Amino acid sequence: MATFLDWFTPDEYVSSVYDIDLSKLWNNGKRLILTDLDNTLVPWNAPEAPLELTAWIKAAMDLGFDVCIVSNNGDERVETFAKRTGIVAVGAARKPRPAAFWRAMKMFDRSVPETVMVGDQLFTDIQGARRLGVYTILVLPINPREWWGTRLVRLAERIVLLRLVRSGRVRRPHPRTQ
Ligand SMILES: [Mg+2]
Repeated sequence: MATFLDWFTPDEYVSSVYDIDLSKLWNNGKRLILTDLDNTLVPWNAPEAPLELTAWIKAAMDLGFDVCIVSNNGDERVETFAKRTGIVAVGAARKPRPAAFWRAMKMFDRSVPETVMVGDQLFTDIQGARRLGVYTILVLPINPREWWGTRLVRLAERIVLLRLVRSGRVRRPHPRTQ
């Protein structure tokens, strides 16, 4: 039986998307990368994608991956961002609810074992995807500046994260040096 901590334990914990081993995922049969937007790909509400991010998305697509943003942020901002980076997005996703994850997988005709979810939040990105059995990768949040609601949730998340670290389920990655 799954314990409380199981719901929040990511399969991998890395400092940023750039530290994800894309070839390994591909070799393990993953084909679709779902990713959170704010504080995972870019700082909260940042309008532009840095060159490094565009290059990362391209590298993933060149390997054969489909990449899809699944964000709780408003539809419009997510759409604009997605258009600029040339990828598909599901906005107003209401993670951790399962509907948006299913919608994204259906859009690309991919199954749970073929899918990966990348995100910076335990309660939305990780828990939501784990509930469906999707492989999860937790990243360190890019920037501490964020929506006040998220900051509140973060307090609770920090406690769970501390338990995950103390129980040896995850090891905190070193923050990325720019
Ligand atoms: Mg986020």
